[in-house]
Amino acid sequence: MHNIALYWKPAVEIVILWYLIYQIMLFFEGTRALQALKGIIILLLAFLIFQRFDFVVLKWIFEKLFGISVIAILIIFHPEIRMGLAQLGKRQIFRNILKEEDIIILGRQVVEGCENLIKNKLGALIAIEKNDSLVAFIQSGEAIDSRVCADLIEAIFTPNNPLHDGGLIISRGRIAAAGCIFPLALGQELSRVFGTRHRAALGLSEETDAIIIVVSEERHDISVIHRGRFYKDLGPVQLETKIKELLKENENK
Ligand code: ATP
Ligand code: MG
Repeated sequence: MHNIALYWKPAVEIVILWYLIYQIMLFFEGTRALQALKGIIILLLAFLIFQRFDFVVLKWIFEKLFGISVIAILIIFHPEIRMGLAQLGKRQIFRNILKEEDIIILGRQVVEGCENLIKNKLGALIAIEKNDSLVAFIQSGEAIDSRVCADLIEAIFTPNNPLHDGGLIISRGRIAAAGCIFPLALGQELSRVFGTRHRAALGLSEETDAIIIVVSEERHDISVIHRGRFYKDLGPVQLETKIKELLKENENK
C-alpha cells in the first residue's frame, strides 16, 4: 500500500509529460522544428540521467547550456512560434454550426452561381468558413452582409464589377465580403499551370479549415480545396455533395 502511494504521482507525471510531448510533436510534424525537438528531448533525457547519477561536471555544463538554449530556441523558431500563436488566436470560441437546411441552401446557391459563371467563361474564388475564423481575410476586402444567393455570386465575379478581383467569403452561412486577398501558397513544387487564383486557394486552405471553391477562367472547370487537398474537375452534383460533406465533417481538433 505504501509503495502505491509512493509511485502513483511519478506515474501520473510521466503520462502527462508523455502526452504533452506527443501533442507538441504532432503540432510540429513535417516541419524542421520536429528534428530539433527530437534533439532537445534526447538532451533533456541525458540531463535527467546526469542529474540522477550526480555527474557534477556534465550537470554543470548542461545547466549552462539550457540557460542559453531558451534564447536560441526563441530566435531559431521565431516563425513557428508566431504561426502557432496565430493558430491559437484563430480558433473560434463558439463553433460555427449551420443548420442542415442552411447547408443545403448554401450548397445549392454556390453551385448554381459557379455553374453560371463557368457557362459564361468566367472565374471565381469562394471561401466558406468552417471553424477557423476568416475575419482577418474578410477585413482585406469589402464587407457585404447578404444571404448566399447564386445571382449575387455571379454578379460579383462578372468583370467590370469592382469586386470581381479577389475572393468572396461566406461566413456563418452569409456572404460576408468580396474582393478579399488570400495568402498565396509559395511552394516551388506547384506545377506551372497553377496560377495565382489556385495558389491563393491553396494558401488559405493551408492556414485555415475553410472550404475553398475555384472556378477556373482558363480551364473552365471547378475545384474544391480543403486542408491543402484538391478535388478537381467536379460536376455540379459532385460539387454540391463535396461542399455539404466538408461542411458537416467534424474535425475534432
Ligand atoms: P484561372 O484558372 O482562373 O486562370 P489561375 O489559377 O490561372 O486561375 P490567375 O489567372 O492568375 O490564376 O487568376 C487571377 C485572379 O486570381 C485575379 O484576377 C484575382 O481575382 C485572383 N487572385 C489572385 N491572387 C489572389 C489573392 N492573393 N487572393 C485572392 N484572389 C486572388
Ligand atoms: Mg490563369
